[in-house]
Order: sequence, then structure tokens, then C-alpha cells
Amino acid sequence: MILSIESSCDDSSLAITDIKTNKLIYHKKISQEIQHSFYGGVVPELAARLHVEALPKILEECKEYFPSLKAIAVTNAPGLSVTLTEGVTMAKALSISLNLPLIAVNHLKGHIYSLFIEKNEVLPMTVLLVSGGHTQIIEANSLYDMKVIASTMDDSFGESFDKVSKMLGLGYPGGPIVQEYGLKGDENRFELPIPLSQSSKIEFSYSGLKNAVRMQIEKLENQEGGIKEQNKYDLCASFQKTAVLHIMQKLKKLFKQKTPKNFAIVGGASANIYLRSQLEELCKKSNTNLYLSELKYCADNAAMIGRVAVEQYKQNDFIRIKDIDVQSRIKELVWA
Ligand code: ATP
Ligand code: FE
Repeated sequence: MILSIESSCDDSSLAITDIKTNKLIYHKKISQEIQHSFYGGVVPELAARLHVEALPKILEECKEYFPSLKAIAVTNAPGLSVTLTEGVTMAKALSISLNLPLIAVNHLKGHIYSLFIEKNEVLPMTVLLVSGGHTQIIEANSLYDMKVIASTMDDSFGESFDKVSKMLGLGYPGGPIVQEYGLKGDENRFELPIPLSQSSKIEFSYSGLKNAVRMQIEKLENQEGGIKEQNKYDLCASFQKTAVLHIMQKLKKLFKQKTPKNFAIVGGASANIYLRSQLEELCKKSNTNLYLSELKYCADNAAMIGRVAVEQYKQNDFIRIKDIDVQSRIKELVWA
């Protein structure tokens, strides 16, 4: 079995995965959403302090599995340096004390492998990663051959939901809240600009759309001296439709160039039901197999890290304690 640790942002999570069967033997996550919602976003120092409390608390529950462990795996990039450090420090200590090899896992590969938790891997696959920090299209040929073919120029898809929610005073994380508000609203009420719709390039941008929402909010505030609940619903619905339309326009271009046989959406924001339904339609029309993570594995979790670690273990892909470091960003466009 492998013990995996995830602490790249505001979720403290540990998992134990069976190497032979991919079965999840244990999985637990303590989220910090409530603590950060007060600030409208993740406060790194607070997040680190909460990991210090939560990680050992979960680890205590795993003690019975220690004798069966073959390796310790941990997310080391990308994420908040101060929170990654908490997980990596615990992983190093466990590796030393239990005399087990250490596996460093790329969190983004983890999101991709969330598709394969308790399952066999299906690769090659074209993947849309939509999370709090990333909006990317990745050609995933194998675990050691992944290539980023499109990215966002500024904000990410999930982040734009967080910011719209914050501007409307609705709380954090914004994705599920904006989605919920949107269900009660008229998506055609406000006309917002679809980002980069005139450009033939396949890339993303969300800061312009965010600013258009900001201006609309200011306009409503000036007119009404506050924002009526129905206007919030309508604005959320209109924003969500436009944010997803942007992705769909670019994906249609990609599918036109080369229709993928297998396509997946992963990352926290892949839970978005509007995005899921639009993609289901596109893939059906294109005869493409669509893969989705289970909703419980879309957001950050240690099970997906453990699933990657199983493959790395089989390849003897270990790292020496003195060589592991944390990286807040992965700058390379090719992940080996
Ligand atoms: P990264 O993986 O890029 O380092 P992260 O780990 O912080 O970033 P995730 O936990 O994968 O991000 O995803 C969190 C993001 O997903 C948040 O921005 C959140 O608002 C967004 N999100 C969650 N549910 C939804 C939803 N239903 N619709 C849109 N966005 C959503
Ligand atoms: Fe993530």
C-alpha cells in the first residue's frame, strides 16, 4: 500500500491505496473552506497553520496501516509553497521513520488521475483541466508524456467564479455558489463579452469577463443602491453561460483540427454542471468518448495523488529526501 498526502491549497487529505488493485483502502479530507470564506479567498499563512493541525490528526487514523506501507507519496508542485511544505515535511519524516521510499507527485497529474481512482488508466487522452489555478488543455499520452497545448493568459476558469462570487458578496469557494445562483437566473439577461471570440488561437482569458461583470455590478449598484437578489441570479447565470461558451468555442476549434478519441475534464471546476452538459453534447456529436471524474474526486484530494503514486511506484520513480523541493508553479509545458 502507498500512503499519499495532499496539502497544495486548502484541503488537508491523506489516502491509502492498494498497489496491486488500485483500491482505496482509506481516504480522508479536512477542508478549510469555512475558515477562508471569511476572507473571500485562501489566506496562505492561515492555510499552512490549519494543515499543521489537520494532517497529523488524520495520520493518527492511518496508524494501523503503517506495517503494510511500501512508499510515502506527496504533492510537491504546484500549489502554495507554505502549504505544500507542510505535506512534504510530514512525508519526509514518515519516509525516514518508517524507512520507506518517497514519491513526489505533480498535483496536475493527480487531477488527471482522479479519472482513474479505483480504475485502470485510459491513455492517451485529451484533457481539459479547469481548477482554481489552471485552465489548460493537455495531451496526456502517458504518465511521463504529457504536453500542455493551451493555457489561460490571466485568470483561471475556477478563479473567475471565485472572483464573481466575491464581488457579489456571496462567499468562497465561488464555483458552487455561482452555479447555484445561476440555476435561479436568466442566462440571457446580461450580455457579456465572450473572451477571445475573434481570435483563431486556442487559448483562454478570464480577466476581461471578470471586469465586465464588475462594471455591470457597479451599474446596478448606482441604479438601485444595492443589488436585488434576482439581479444576482441573472448575473451569475449570464456570467456562467459566457465563461463556459468561451471554453466551448475554443474546444470546437480544437475538435475541428483533430477530433480526439478520448476526452476528459478534470479539476475542481469540472464539477460545473453547465460545463459538463455542454461537453457531453460536443463529445456526442463528435463521437468522442467523454471521461469525467466522480464529483467527490474533482476537487483536491489525496486519493488522486495516491493513484498517480501507484504508477510511479511501479516505475521505481522515487526521490531522495534531500532532492525533494516544493514548486509553486510548473513552468514546463511538457511533463515527463
Ligand atoms: P490547482 O489545482 O490549479 O492548483 P486548486 O487545487 O486550488 O487549483 P481545485 O481544488 O482543483 O483548485 O478547484 C477549486 C476551484 O474549482 C475553485 O476555484 C472553485 O470555485 C472551482 N469550482 C468548484 N466547483 C465549481 C463549480 N460547480 N463551478 C465552477 N467552479 C467550481
Ligand atoms: Fe487542485
